[in-house]
Order: sequence, then C-alpha cells, then structure tokens
Amino acid sequence: MKVHHLNCGILHVPPGPRAACHCLLLEHDGRLALIDTGIGLQDVARPVERIGQAVIDAAGFQFHESLTAVRQVERLGYRAADVTDIVLTHGDPDHVGGLADFPAAAVHVSAEELARLESGHGRYSAAQFAHRPRWVMYPPSAARWFGIEARPLPLLAGVEAFLVPLFGHTLGHCGVAVRAGDRWLLHVGDAYYLRVELTTDEHPVSVLAAQRADDDGQRRASLAVLRRLAREHGAEVELFGYHDFAEFPPGFAAPA
Ligand SMILES: [Zn+2]
Repeated sequence: MKVHHLNCGILHVPPGPRAACHCLLLEHDGRLALIDTGIGLQDVARPVERIGQAVIDAAGFQFHESLTAVRQVERLGYRAADVTDIVLTHGDPDHVGGLADFPAAAVHVSAEELARLESGHGRYSAAQFAHRPRWVMYPPSAARWFGIEARPLPLLAGVEAFLVPLFGHTLGHCGVAVRAGDRWLLHVGDAYYLRVELTTDEHPVSVLAAQRADDDGQRRASLAVLRRLAREHGAEVELFGYHDFAEFPPGFAAPA
C-alpha cells in the first residue's frame, strides 16, 4: 500500500497561521481510499450556496481548484471512480466538500456522526450531502486497538484499518487508524487542531478548540487518550491531525 498525504484546502483567518486540510489517500492494487475530502470542486464553484458566507468568513475558507482531492487524484494518473471508499472523521464543511466529486464511493462514518448529520444540526451544511452519499455506518464495537475502542474498517483488501472514536469536537467525531508496514498511522481529524495541544492546554488554539466542541468534556477526554498514546506508543503510532501544516511529511511544501 502506498500512502499519499494530500493538502486539499486552505483555511486562513489573519493574523493566525494558515490551516491545512490534511487528507490521506491510500493506494493499493489499483484502488484508492480517501480519508476526509477537503474542499471540493462544487465548493470552489458555488461557495456561498454550499457553505454560507458566515462560515466562509469565520473559518477563512480559500478556494483553489488545484487543491481539490479529485484534481490531485487525477494528477496521480487515476480517475475519480478509482476512489472506491471514503472515511470521514466527521461532517464539518471543511472535511466533506469533496464528497460530491466521488459520488460512487462508499462513505464510512460512525453511527453517532451520521445520526447527528441526519438530524439536520446547524454545524453541517446540507448542500454538501445533497448528492446522497452511499453511507456505511459503524456502531460501537467490542474491538480494541492499543486499549481504545476501535471499529474495524473494511477499506481496501489486505489493508488493516479502524475507525477510532475520539468524540467531542462533534458528537460522532472519530480518528482513523491505518496499518502501514510495521507501524500505524492515526489520523486524529480535529481531535486537536495543532500538534502543540498534545503537550499543553495553554496555547491560544485550545480556546478555539473548546468553543468549536459539541461536547468539550468529551473533547478533553479524547485529547487525554491521544496524549497517552503519544507517550506510551509513540514509536508504533504516528499521529497527525487535519489542520497543522507542520505535520506533513518532510519535503512537503506548505503554502507561503
Ligand atoms: Zn476541521
């Protein structure tokens, strides 16, 4: 399996730092699976209708067609239809905009997040789901991964992966664990915004994280789980989140 780290969007509210949309593209046997989808073509074409001006301004959405997941998939020599599976950490607009560019893909999500999405909660943007994704939802599981609840994800044949509940940012927010050789990758989604949150609660970004959490007690508990994982299993598990440009692999050129 080959793992591509893609930046599928930029959010920027000056004077703060630019935030990434760090998606993973897994390539195996001619098939592709995408973890989170960034800002999509339809967002670029009709941003206000899809996301709303207030959210665009508050989060600092930028719209660049070349950064969309589908254009990056094409640059790798694939077609959109080769993306057979998409995993969502959660349903916020900066994570799901690319869904409609892969209408044939199965979309894997926690049962809790799907229930919240389908309840019409205001943080989600209905227009981004109007194409009716092919949902595959995952209820609670007895399986464990490093002692944490983990829901087995059948993505690509022979690829071991789990949806890992890290609730709080949204009520069904999950990380995604993928085995890569003798190590694991854990995409933590928005369980933290910046890696510095693994070591301190004093950074200004923690205030934003608390404000944006649907359940801040759960968010803090999830962060404690990640801190333990980083401390006790840092050699076996590589953690990274969605928004911190510093967490891309060496050689990745972040936008100036
Ligand atoms: Zn986000």
